[in-house]
Amino acid sequence: MEIALRGIGVSPGIAIGHALTFNVQNLDVPKYHVEDSAAELARFDRAIAAVHRDLKRIYDQTARELGAHHAAIIQTHIIMATDMTLRQDIQDRLEAEKVNVEYVVDDLIAKYSTIIENTDDPQFRERTSDLLDVGTRILSKLLNTELDSLARLEHPCVIVSHDLTPSDTANIDTVNALGIATDVSGPTSHTAILARALEIPAVVGLKYVGTHTLPGDMIVVDGTTGYVYIRPSENTLTKYAKEKSRQEEERRALLLVERDTPSQTTDGHVIPTLANIELPVELPHCRKAGAQGVGLYRTEYLFLNRSALPTEEEQYQAYAQVAASMESLPVTIRTLDIGGDKFAHFMSGPKEANPQLGWRAIRFCLERPDIFKAQLRALLRASIKGNIQIMFPMISGIEELDRAKVVLNEVRADLERRSIPFKKDIKLGSMIEVPAAISIADLLAKECDFFSIGTNDLIQYSLAVDRVNERIAHMYEPAHPGVLRMIQHAVRAAKAAKIPCSICGEMAGDPLFTELLLGLGVDSLSMSAVGLPVVRAEIASTSLTQAKRLAKRVLGMRTGEDVRRMLTQRYRGRRAMEIYLSHIENRPPAQAT
Ligand code: PEP
Ligand code: MG
Repeated sequence: MEIALRGIGVSPGIAIGHALTFNVQNLDVPKYHVEDSAAELARFDRAIAAVHRDLKRIYDQTARELGAHHAAIIQTHIIMATDMTLRQDIQDRLEAEKVNVEYVVDDLIAKYSTIIENTDDPQFRERTSDLLDVGTRILSKLLNTELDSLARLEHPCVIVSHDLTPSDTANIDTVNALGIATDVSGPTSHTAILARALEIPAVVGLKYVGTHTLPGDMIVVDGTTGYVYIRPSENTLTKYAKEKSRQEEERRALLLVERDTPSQTTDGHVIPTLANIELPVELPHCRKAGAQGVGLYRTEYLFLNRSALPTEEEQYQAYAQVAASMESLPVTIRTLDIGGDKFAHFMSGPKEANPQLGWRAIRFCLERPDIFKAQLRALLRASIKGNIQIMFPMISGIEELDRAKVVLNEVRADLERRSIPFKKDIKLGSMIEVPAAISIADLLAKECDFFSIGTNDLIQYSLAVDRVNERIAHMYEPAHPGVLRMIQHAVRAAKAAKIPCSICGEMAGDPLFTELLLGLGVDSLSMSAVGLPVVRAEIASTSLTQAKRLAKRVLGMRTGEDVRRMLTQRYRGRRAMEIYLSHIENRPPAQAT
């Protein structure tokens, strides 16, 4: 029988297909008493033999497809996994402690990686991620958990999962992944952002989709309304098949109409609309959707899904490619914003209780100057290939910005010494996404060439609502007067210092807020390519004079609900909003099982 669930629609569009249930690695390592340590050691030996077989297969394939040079890293993993010192240490502890082997493996790998991590040699430190990778492989064999990946799907399917990490999503097979449905996560989680970027319809926060879906079940995902139907009735299927082709046609039409028109208000103010990108593969979508530059390039995706850090050269190639392909259009490249909900293998260390408030973004980079400098060198070298601007994430105070600039100046001096060309007057900006940065926006504005307000984090931190927690997703409210006043404050500070202020959080791609943001004085909007056509259409039907009046009224309102109601009513009937509202109002009624 059909089961209808309602979650949070985070990437628009409809997907209809068979479910692929995806098991996210969840290596919860138990600890229990085991008397027979020889039997535990034998389990370890069997796990190592299986890991060895897997790695040998990967080695052969890598050597065949990419050459011996690339395969060498797999060889290192084989050596680590079969290392006799590791086996001896494990045997000693099994005998002394009488516990299960996976606990000992997990503990030893964590201890070894902390030692490596704390050495002075940066090259040796890079081995930490390899060790963690090997450790995960051994543990997954011991715990009988398959290491799954969505990189190569055999046929078109809808991915159903309890959760997906941003790295799982970044790696997804974009041809065969028709849609995504997950139990957990919120609207501005990086998994949601990526799904939008890759134009894969997605619904998160469904709570029970993982438990109700069997592999191969037919499933409908409506990424606009947030509905998901498991084993849909004939009726539902026919209705959604029709709606899917209607939406696709509409989007094609909107793309054609809006792409070449300037992003300009009815009273002649040009408001550039730019794209947020995570991966260079998104560039063709951005150009097609009429992006007037890249307002946010989230470089951390270059660092995910790999055991070793990207080299400076590899980063240079990626940044240069993005800059060159956008020609003279601005490309704002954000330095590494790892942490929060994005973790890479090389980020070892104790698990954090509050990762969103933890070792993230600029905090991480300032403590890892080796990684930070390699990225800045690559960015500066690429700066001559196009119109690059550098932006620092999660700045919370002047001292962080100062420290970041000191590192940048060291890199500049080094390049100059070596006569490597770079753009001398490259523009430097700060993300404004921590409430403290809003309070000191006047001070920060004097030190920056531009601001970009990251509303995803700003809302998370100012309303104290974890952006990846579906339980409190209903409290994540961009229309909250507290948030709107913060935006106004930052924009005013930018104007007083005569620097431009953009918005690059998801709010910028929601047409419900376009007129209000313009009225608040924002200079440009940057969003996932999928949002560009409708926001451009919205700008084209907005008068800046009226938008300012609207902003004034809205800033006097008492609640987010009041603001949202007013925005929805006001825009009813407008051309761009007609399309948008027809999506959300055509929500099918909630159905019980
Ligand atoms: C933001 O916080 O609004 C933002 C654009 O950055 P990210 O979503 O990558 O944290
Ligand atoms: Mg952010």
